[in-house]
Amino acid sequence: MALIVQKFGGSSVRDRERIFNVARIVANTHNAGNDVVVVVSAQGDTTDDLIAKAAEITHNPSAREMDMLLATGEQISIALLAMALNEIGCHATSLTGWQAGFRTNRAYTKARITRMETERITSELARNRVVVVAGFQGINKLDDITTLGRGGSDTSAVAIAAALHADRCQIYTDVEGVYTADPRKVRNARKLPEITFDEMLELASLGAQVLNNRSVELAKKYNVELEVLSSLNPMPGTLVKEVAKDMEGMLIKGVAKDTDVAVITIMNVPDEPGMSFKIFGMLAQKNINVDIILQSTGRDGKKDVIFTCSQGDAPVAMRALKESAKFNQVSCDNSYAKVSIVGAGMQSHSGVAASMFEALANNNINIHMISTSEIKISCIIDREEADRAVSAIHDSLFD
Ligand code: ASP
Ligand code: MG
Repeated sequence: MALIVQKFGGSSVRDRERIFNVARIVANTHNAGNDVVVVVSAQGDTTDDLIAKAAEITHNPSAREMDMLLATGEQISIALLAMALNEIGCHATSLTGWQAGFRTNRAYTKARITRMETERITSELARNRVVVVAGFQGINKLDDITTLGRGGSDTSAVAIAAALHADRCQIYTDVEGVYTADPRKVRNARKLPEITFDEMLELASLGAQVLNNRSVELAKKYNVELEVLSSLNPMPGTLVKEVAKDMEGMLIKGVAKDTDVAVITIMNVPDEPGMSFKIFGMLAQKNINVDIILQSTGRDGKKDVIFTCSQGDAPVAMRALKESAKFNQVSCDNSYAKVSIVGAGMQSHSGVAASMFEALANNNINIHMISTSEIKISCIIDREEADRAVSAIHDSLFD
């Protein structure tokens, strides 16, 4: 007998039919002799709808009240799924995040889990109940409801799996696994049987929206092997783990694009020690996550500093640079995108970057910035070219 955590996203519990579909998957797992903890998200677009409702009242809601509101979405799902399970003869108990023991810090709307108190879940399992837990929510020291940030249910599932030392953590979604590129956009995109945590982290942060970033970080930290699979098509999905089987010739695991890129240029920065610290120290203080950084060679005692960050952070960065740091030649351009290739195998092989650049060159796509790490190469290009670039790179690296 194993202990299995199964997480179902919003699209998997969208309506009555889908809820019963999920109930059957869960009941089958339980009937096979396993303990099962289920984590669910809010149905369909519920969370977006709740955010829209808040906006009807105020443009500046308190974060505490937002969490009070948003947590209701998952509470609907757990009750309905538990009812469906009981309806098909599988005994189930629903638990909110706080009943399930999710203790978080105080950061409303983006809380972090500080501790899991698993007694209640364990005692329900001991009574042979399936436990249905609300994802995305917890409770802080003030006994206030908190939420974990958008897409946080994945993190809830991994946290439970880690705390209970579950044998498996299955993330059910509406795609069949992790692909080498977005299968809706790239013909020939292939499903990967396995991928490492590090590769998945890069792909997740690059906008391959299968798993929430924080959930992968947590899974890596506690070594919780994840399985991403479809709730609609029963077939093996993708395993996300520390070390993936070395698949012959699979140097690259995926090609991703990220359109949430702002390119900020600071011109005529004095060419003297401490300038980079001044700029990026200040941005760090404002919690701005800087990605690629370029610096031109100096001329006449001046240089240009160019960096990328998310479009959401760009206005804050611009203000900080102009007002606090007193740079007056600062500009921001949102017309770019980032395309990247990811694969642990590139560490030990040469020529991977060249093939990527060749694919872009053959398609007449200009590269504005490049950055590399051991397992990733990213190029900043014009946003309009992004889809074409992903297909071109995918074709040349996978076919
Ligand atoms: N319902 C929340 C959201 O839409 C959490 C989740 O789906 O994981 O962001
Ligand atoms: Mg959702």
